[in-house]
Amino acid sequence: MVCEEAKKTSRKGAKTQRKLTTEGRANTQPAVGVVTNRTTPVKWSVTTPTTGSDFTSGIASEATQSPNIRLGIDVIASEAKRSSRFYLKCRHTIQQKCNLATSMHNQNRVDHIITGLGLAGAALALHLIARGKTIAVFDEPSINRASRVAAGLFNPISGKLMVKTWRADDLFPYLIDFYRNAEQITSQKFFQPQNIYTPFRSIEEQNNWISRGDEAAIKPFIKRIMTSSSFDKQVKDELGGVLLDKSGYLQVGTYLDAVRELLRSKNYLFGKMHHDRLRLDSDTVRYEDVVADSIVFCEGLHARNNPITNWLPVSPLKGETIDVRFSQELGAIYNRGAYAVPLGDLTYRIGATFDRSVEPGITAQGREDLEQKLRSLIRLPYDVIGQNWGFRPTTRDRRPMVGAHPEFRNVFIFNGMGTKGVSQAPYFSRVLADYLEGEVSIGPEVNISRFYALSSKSRD
Ligand SMILES: Cc1cc2nc3c(=O)[nH]c(=O)nc-3n(C[C@H](O)[C@H](O)[C@H](O)COP(=O)(O)OP(=O)(O)OC[C@H]3O[C@@H](n4cnc5c(N)ncnc54)[C@H](O)[C@@H]3O)c2cc1C
Repeated sequence: MVCEEAKKTSRKGAKTQRKLTTEGRANTQPAVGVVTNRTTPVKWSVTTPTTGSDFTSGIASEATQSPNIRLGIDVIASEAKRSSRFYLKCRHTIQQKCNLATSMHNQNRVDHIITGLGLAGAALALHLIARGKTIAVFDEPSINRASRVAAGLFNPISGKLMVKTWRADDLFPYLIDFYRNAEQITSQKFFQPQNIYTPFRSIEEQNNWISRGDEAAIKPFIKRIMTSSSFDKQVKDELGGVLLDKSGYLQVGTYLDAVRELLRSKNYLFGKMHHDRLRLDSDTVRYEDVVADSIVFCEGLHARNNPITNWLPVSPLKGETIDVRFSQELGAIYNRGAYAVPLGDLTYRIGATFDRSVEPGITAQGREDLEQKLRSLIRLPYDVIGQNWGFRPTTRDRRPMVGAHPEFRNVFIFNGMGTKGVSQAPYFSRVLADYLEGEVSIGPEVNISRFYALSSKSRD
């Protein structure tokens, strides 16, 4: 990796974009027979539409075939058609374009590179596309992809103590708009708002919720408080429970496939990034034939294998899930100790374990723990039809990592989604997209600057 030049002394926020652009739109019949073969150099010619004879011609790099250059030549040709006075000007402009084409030969110029297409990278990609940015996204399926295992739950009141999730007031209304919009853009369906039902464990808890239910901070997230068994006794809830609102699940696999497809249709999708082939210059990032203003690493746990981000304190928190089939549909997402999230056709994902083990793979212990929790939550018989595992990319303070690399002015990081990628990625990717345009600063709670000291330590 060549990066000395890119070491920064200061960061000035957004940078001007440099893009290969056309001068205007062609408004005439095709007048350009641009290229006769794909070898370099190639012959181009501008023909007079009426006679079909060559108006002017020349030799250029094969890059002349790029649509941008061709469009430019079309414009010139249309001018040429109107009057031969334009001949010299045309020839000169065509020559300029061909020179530009030659220098851009085989390069793919984009505004930003994103590495990693899990929940973090996908959300950022959608934000950047919505802002009209060009991107190149590198992603290679790997065994550690947390996003492909995730049940996709978003739950504003969570944990053993059932407390309001950190920044729920910002994150939850935002994620609803975000995923609905993503469905529209991709013409796919993957966002499933649904009530989550958490049974009470004790009469104290029931009393507590009856009095808490009216608190202004919590009220928007509560649909109803039940004081007796509900849902046709599918769930063990003798004391009732709390039915949550603004909750549900994202069909993560379908969502990520839809984003992949969108990127593929725009020629924005690439495979694995080999970090040793990355070149960081003072104002550009180059990876093979892709050139960009900046790169954002959204690599999840793989940040640990990247030589310029391996100082980040991203820790693996292993999780296992089992997939089961019930004989009937569940009336809500039941969640206490374990959750059951629909996969379709009466199958449900039951999750998840929390394990600091760094051993990859599923375990008999994981399955046993989940089945035990499932039996203490749901009364229905079930068949186990699958088991899965993944490492969540967590941080010590359980907050995302968003922001600029301390040493390289055009390198950014978006990571640390922890156990809540579905709810955190939409909001904080917007924060980062704003930051890339110089529009906002990043709050200290999530700003990666809180770990900068570790970067310099790693070089000591
Ligand atoms: C069992 C389990 C259940 C979970 N359930 C939920 C849930 O219900 N709700 C919820 O909100 N969260 C859940 N999570 C957490 C959630 O999965 C994570 O927060 C989230 O997926 C992290 O997303 P990410 O994009 O940061 O990382 P990842 O999903 O790991 O994505 C990183 C991507 O980058 C790619 N990559 C890395 N390096 C390179 C490279 N050099 N070149 C190309 N590609 C590269 C990887 O292959 C991967 O595709 C769960 C996690 C687990 C393990």
